[in-house]
Amino acid sequence: MSARRPPATRRAPSAARPPASAGGSDLDRPLASAGIPGIAPATAAALARGLGLHTVRDLLEHTPRRYIDLSRTAPIGETGIGEEATVVGTVVRVRGRYVRSGRHLLMVRVSDGSGDLDGIWWNQPFRAKAFAEGATVAMAGKVERNRAERRSHSPCIQNPFVEVLRGPGTEAVHTSRIIPVHPATERVSANQIRRFVHEALRRYGVLVPEPVPPGLVGARGLMPRSEALAEIHFPSGDARRWAAHRRLVFEELLVLQTGLAIRKRRVERETAGFSHAGGGALVERFLSSLPFRATGAQRRTIEEIAADLAAPRPMNRLLQGEVGSGKTVVAVAAALRVAGSGAQVAFMAPTEVLAEQHYAVVRRLLEPVAGLAPAEEGRLFGDGFGVELLTGSVTGAGRERALEAAASGRASILIGTHALIQEGVEFARLGLALVDEQHRFGVHQRLALRAKGGQPDALIMTATPIPRTLALTLYGDLDVSVIDEMPPGRVPVETSVARTPADRAAAYDRIRAEVAAGHQAFVVCPLVSESESLEAKAAEREFARIGAEVFSGLRLGLLHGRMNSSKKEAVMRAMRDGEIDVLVATTVVEVGVDVPGASVMLVEDADRFGLSQLHQLRGRVGRGGQPAWCVLLTSLDPKGAGEDEEEREVARRRLDAMVRTSDGFELAEEDLAIRGEGQILGRGTIDQDGGAPLQTGRTDLRFARLLRDQKVLAEARSEAFALVDSDPHLELPEHRPLLAEVRRRFADRLDWLFAS
Ligand code: ADP
Ligand code: MG
Repeated sequence: MSARRPPATRRAPSAARPPASAGGSDLDRPLASAGIPGIAPATAAALARGLGLHTVRDLLEHTPRRYIDLSRTAPIGETGIGEEATVVGTVVRVRGRYVRSGRHLLMVRVSDGSGDLDGIWWNQPFRAKAFAEGATVAMAGKVERNRAERRSHSPCIQNPFVEVLRGPGTEAVHTSRIIPVHPATERVSANQIRRFVHEALRRYGVLVPEPVPPGLVGARGLMPRSEALAEIHFPSGDARRWAAHRRLVFEELLVLQTGLAIRKRRVERETAGFSHAGGGALVERFLSSLPFRATGAQRRTIEEIAADLAAPRPMNRLLQGEVGSGKTVVAVAAALRVAGSGAQVAFMAPTEVLAEQHYAVVRRLLEPVAGLAPAEEGRLFGDGFGVELLTGSVTGAGRERALEAAASGRASILIGTHALIQEGVEFARLGLALVDEQHRFGVHQRLALRAKGGQPDALIMTATPIPRTLALTLYGDLDVSVIDEMPPGRVPVETSVARTPADRAAAYDRIRAEVAAGHQAFVVCPLVSESESLEAKAAEREFARIGAEVFSGLRLGLLHGRMNSSKKEAVMRAMRDGEIDVLVATTVVEVGVDVPGASVMLVEDADRFGLSQLHQLRGRVGRGGQPAWCVLLTSLDPKGAGEDEEEREVARRRLDAMVRTSDGFELAEEDLAIRGEGQILGRGTIDQDGGAPLQTGRTDLRFARLLRDQKVLAEARSEAFALVDSDPHLELPEHRPLLAEVRRRFADRLDWLFAS
């Protein structure tokens, strides 16, 4: 069915012959000299600058953002108030003016003979120039009564989705009843681009190569690539458009995963790493010395990691686990295995507070294993074993000692911050690079840590729940272990949104009651974007205010990024030891800090925070098994009016999601879904994106959406690995076009991802 020809009535762009000079490289022709009518040098420059379209191929792969289905339009006279509608009509009036409140009001009236409908925009006077009286436009959105202009009896659509179909001097391209709307720039309209793409398909469509091996095309019933491109731009119907889309999604993911598979297999073939086969008995002793039983998920991930460590090739593994799932225990087990096999471990954390916490925890956890009291010098295991700390604030003799211990091999475990990857830090025999809270580090820092050794194993830990498929794509050469089980007895943190002064007072009462019961609270101050010092000032003010007005008599602490690290550490220690009742802090506390006695988290201006940040913050309380509360304060008025309606809606959805679920994976998916919205589409338009956005700049996927296409991604991944395992260099003739496509599409990204 996929190979069916388009209906004969359709002006199929791919039906024309290519230019006489055609060859494969013609797809790489600069647009200015591609012979496409209307693309003058100035237009080509605008396409390149505004949209990154340089060549014919770029234009062919410039996917529509959405479509307008002109077969489902309604006569204006038949649309009802409150309905979503798409109409087509003639612009009869364009009027912009300033209303009494000082805001600018732009009204564009469209008429189709059955009635008039006004498109309304506030404070966007520049839009007026997109419309000319007499132009034919499609307009979509929710039909409302026109409140902006009492005298007008026409209904209106606020911020409608509008597409000019035919304007003065521009012919419409109507190859089908579903027309594409391509991303456009200020200089080149979607209408023009539609014509350029149409012409490019007509002239060059048949030159488009097929990268998917013929066997797979057949087995999966894929539409051929050139046909799919024609169909994705100018659909001949919904079913065929989806078939085209499916095919392009599969191809894109196959190409990406093939690149990853080649890289992974090559690394496995060519690099000899350490085999850390010892330390097993130490790990067992360690686990049985814990004051709790390791969860099944902890045991399983410890085993997965042990198998990798024992193998002679370098481990490259991502350890994912919800906030509080107990990643530290797993990390320490890995460290013990490596140290027990006679190699060293570098353990890097994103902040000093966290590095210091890890240092204390690791030493405490290892005490019973070593059978020794904690040694002042950081030595735990007699001569061969030691744990040392290296951060920016470890200086002088302490720093000298840490460096010497690393270089001589006396330190088995060196814990620290970015300080670990600085010049001058050397290891005698680095066997494992451990990175905590990976989302705070760039790839390069991760690689820099590995570079401190020969081919050390790497274990990267993250609590930022990345949907599994996203992890596979972004970290395609990594193996993934997931701690998908929480330690027993954790009660979900009761989360609420507080809007009124009464809500706030109740939250303060809750804190007083909890403190009276021997627990502690965090008060997180508003995010001040881009300025740590403003943020610190705000925290100081809040600290003073609640100390005087709200919690007099309680022991308050203050923590922000501008304090020096010994001060920070002292505050964190006091908090951990229960000497502080209420800690007023900036988001410094977001990452990994473990205060078992804390039971209330109050977040000021919670609507300013991202979902993953809120989730991290909430993860700071209830870690000791006690009931816990998270109060999200906001002054956001859910019903208020104004221009930033969309922004408010997004913030509201974030807060709702926090109240609804404590599952980090669900929140991550919600986050992606929320960020993907913001387009106003009427019925009759089709949203190409299906909800989820790209992480722009990260994978540059054009067709696939990682959330929506998870299943296809998994399939593409297994096909890709099967292909590469059967033909490691993709030398067979039927695999060569695929290899070429891998190089072309992802070469630079692969370097970025996997620079080694
Ligand atoms: P995260 O995964 O967020 O880094 P941590 O490793 O800091 O989590 O662990 C959170 C808390 O849970 C710590 O206080 C730790 O001692 C405790 N913990 C870890 N594993 C278990 C377990 N199996 N049973 C009970 N408590 C545990
Ligand atoms: Mg942690």
